[in-house]
Amino acid sequence: MPTFVLATRNRHKVEEIRAVLGAGHTFLTLVDFPDAPAVVEDAATFAGNARKKAEALAAWLACSAGRSVGADAWVLADDSGLEVDALGGAPGVHSARFAARDRGQAGNSTDAENNAKLLRLLASVPAERRTARFHCALALAPVAARPGAETRVFDGVCEGTILFEPRGQHGFGYDPLFQPAGHQESFAELGEPTKNAISHRARALEQLRRWLARSIEAS
Ligand code: IMP
Repeated sequence: MPTFVLATRNRHKVEEIRAVLGAGHTFLTLVDFPDAPAVVEDAATFAGNARKKAEALAAWLACSAGRSVGADAWVLADDSGLEVDALGGAPGVHSARFAARDRGQAGNSTDAENNAKLLRLLASVPAERRTARFHCALALAPVAARPGAETRVFDGVCEGTILFEPRGQHGFGYDPLFQPAGHQESFAELGEPTKNAISHRARALEQLRRWLARSIEAS
């Protein structure tokens, strides 16, 4: 079974990935590689950013004199965010720094600042035009070049609408303002078990799990 190096330090993401892909694999994270270079997420798409992060870490691991991860190891990186139709797809790849961009600041804004900006921009938009989706792209890159192993990207989306005020205490980011299709509660009201069953990340991970099962079966 190959080793997966997850290009994240986020404990929630690590647990979610581990739960879907199964305990049979070895998982390492950026916590295990403190010297790994930071990657600037400046691509125009989620897939572009995920691919850039995965390939940069794979290239670094391949020539790093540090800990060996094995010739059959993979790097897994993700990028995700919110796309609001009435805003032409914004905040999109800028989801984490949506409010900070107005001030020309580098770095991310707080969730409260981002949610306040979203509500302000949608103040005059009626319920039927508040459609939106969370989007997650997961990129899987081989650490060492080998036949049939090139970078693959798996996408997952979760459709829904943007509420008129924040609701719920769970989750993070835009969860209090996002009501997934088919539910009467926001992501922040639904809580983690339900969210993790229907989320954009869960759907992208399911695509990846199916591909892995097929390729393990074929080998
Ligand atoms: P990243 O892919 O973890 O960097 O996420 C980028 C940004 O998208 C986060 O900072 C959040 O603002 C937003 N986001 C991504 N996934 C979610 C989610 O599941 N709930 C709420 N916000 C999210």
